[in-house]
Amino acid sequence: MKIMLLGAPGAGKGTVAKLLTALDGSVQISTGDILRAEVRAGSDLGKKAQAFMDAGDLVPDEVIMGMMEKRLQEPDCQKGYLLDGFPRTIPQAEALKVLMAKIGIDLDLVVNIDVPRDVILDRLCTRRTCENGDCQAIYNVKSNPPKEEGKCDKCGAAVIQRADETEEAITHRLETFTEKTAPLIGFYEKEGKFKNIPAISSDEVVNGIKDSLGI
Ligand code: AMP
Repeated sequence: MKIMLLGAPGAGKGTVAKLLTALDGSVQISTGDILRAEVRAGSDLGKKAQAFMDAGDLVPDEVIMGMMEKRLQEPDCQKGYLLDGFPRTIPQAEALKVLMAKIGIDLDLVVNIDVPRDVILDRLCTRRTCENGDCQAIYNVKSNPPKEEGKCDKCGAAVIQRADETEEAITHRLETFTEKTAPLIGFYEKEGKFKNIPAISSDEVVNGIKDSLGI
């Protein structure tokens, strides 16, 4: 399947993408994950991106488009792809349309995961992540804490609060979302193949997507 997942930070795009990859082997393409890997590797791209990310700002469109032009042409995308966290601005959406026509790929569905703001805020402030870049397991101090406090169940590395998940950075990321990313909903409504799914549980979102695709 070839799906774009829209939604605020903390709406559950990553969780839904992981559940969908298990259905048919489509690959999850998370621009946030790719950028964090570049930061960890200390690459030029990572160096360009880090300050924007730590502040909860968007990385410039041209950096993201260069990165995605490469990623979308890798062989694993032939099985299908789940775009998670991309595009984040109208210029990215417009550039993606041109890129898709150029490399001959398309989308089956654009989904907006519509979660109330109070739920999002609570989720992000209580989210913790395994700091091991190869693991990155996600926990929640309230609903899904690691068995041993501060230690990842899967790999034993430290479980931390991401630099961009402090209350200040989260507030800023949500403002950025409202200003720059939410307008994508109107953009894709006009383009067609758009579905809004108001749901808090990831399973509900996955079922909504399966219904839309008739699978
Ligand atoms: P995420 O894990 O998707 O919330 O992304 C973490 C951070 O990476 C964001 O707050 C941005 O700084 C950056 N980022 C991820 N995807 C994009 C994108 N498509 N455009 C610009 N910045 C992005």
